[in-house]
Amino acid sequence: MNKLTSFPYNQVLVLGLAKSGEAAAKLLNSSGVSVRVNDQKPFSENPQAQSLHHEGIEVITGGHPLSVLEGVDYVVKNPGIPYTNAIVKAATERGIPVVTEIELAYMLHEGPIVAITGSNGKTTTTTLVYEMLKRSKKPVALAGNIGKVSCEVAQNTVPEETMVMELSSFQLLGTETFKPNVSVFLNLYEAHLDYHKTMEHYGQSKAKIVANQTPQDYAVYNADHQEVRTLVQKTQAQTIPFSLLSEQSEGVWTDGTSVYYKDTFIMKQNEILLEGEHNLENTMAAIAASLLAGATIEGIRKVLTTFTGVEHRLQYVKDVKGRRFFNDSKATNILAAQKALNAFSEPTIWLAGGLDRGQSFEELAPLMKHVKAMVVFGETGEKLREFGTKNGIETILMVDNVKQAAEEAYRISAEQDVILLSPACASWDQYKTFEERGNMFVKAVHTLE
Ligand code: ADP
Repeated sequence: MNKLTSFPYNQVLVLGLAKSGEAAAKLLNSSGVSVRVNDQKPFSENPQAQSLHHEGIEVITGGHPLSVLEGVDYVVKNPGIPYTNAIVKAATERGIPVVTEIELAYMLHEGPIVAITGSNGKTTTTTLVYEMLKRSKKPVALAGNIGKVSCEVAQNTVPEETMVMELSSFQLLGTETFKPNVSVFLNLYEAHLDYHKTMEHYGQSKAKIVANQTPQDYAVYNADHQEVRTLVQKTQAQTIPFSLLSEQSEGVWTDGTSVYYKDTFIMKQNEILLEGEHNLENTMAAIAASLLAGATIEGIRKVLTTFTGVEHRLQYVKDVKGRRFFNDSKATNILAAQKALNAFSEPTIWLAGGLDRGQSFEELAPLMKHVKAMVVFGETGEKLREFGTKNGIETILMVDNVKQAAEEAYRISAEQDVILLSPACASWDQYKTFEERGNMFVKAVHTLE
């Protein structure tokens, strides 16, 4: 296992546990660094704190007293903890570095790094890059939302191995020296303004992905997004654009039929299994990043002709008697459902509903020309029924859950139809997570015949 050698700090505070804090504390402790953990949850209800305590790590739970900073010269904070937190503020005022575990992963991992950020499409693009490198027989490790915590992954990598990392703006904000060899900046949409307060701050935190890059590194970016373009131009790295809209002599582009890298033909667009324009963007970004990290065109083609999507993200489930089922349970908001509806032109039965946040579905109206029927459920079921009726959808069924939704949609479907679960709502009115909702749907689809 890799350890932190010549770590230049003496006393580290790990602020906030969860998966990332636990991994960071264990790593620091096993590297012989003195570490103190502070978590809000009381000790008796905190199995993670208990287990760290058993390993001999100092643990302070049940609150965040300022005294936890005593003697501390480095803070590793959970990405979700805001910079307005009293301890974070005090540490910053005292000039103590406050980082996320990404920084530790960077110190540990000796091999190349491909890092991916953006408001949407991170998981899909990260998965694609990982698979493309794997298919090209490159040693590769996956870190982030879908994989393990980065500093845990980095403990087991070898110098020849490329680490592919999915990074949120919260994680990036807590980096100081972190520098990927290849960065990917996918897009920038309005999000997380409760944390970042302004779009500018949100954009700047994402742009940290390119901040330390040098002329030997590459910054892959979405040339169709003005803000992304502007933020990336400040880097020292070689910039590699990708675009759906225009030819790119230095990057990845499409002529509407085929995808190219510079003037090299990569593959025909209709051979790519992933549906939707947004996924074509993710695909182009992944092609650029994986090529720059050493993937082969053959490896890339193999992935794109077989990969049917990350679970719950416009994931192709199955064809049942000519009806194609898609699970987009991750579509917990209007923007995501827009992308999904936009991905198809075939007659579509749209399955939607979930938590009522008082949202309006109006923005989806222009994308419903191919929607022949709706199956609605959950708290927003009634609202969606009214919305569908207003927009001329004649068949709208109301059901109790996504299992029934799959069954009812199948019953009223015809050959060539797309049956799309893209709820446009969070799942918490009926399910613990969007994964649970998606799994129930997929399971139901597999029982249809
Ligand atoms: P993230 O990890 O950034 O949340 P995912 O790959 O998990 O992104 O995709 C989540 C949802 O975001 C998808 O179901 C889709 O609706 C939307 N999405 C994915 N890629 C893009 C993109 N390039 N542009 C806009 N929306 C996207």
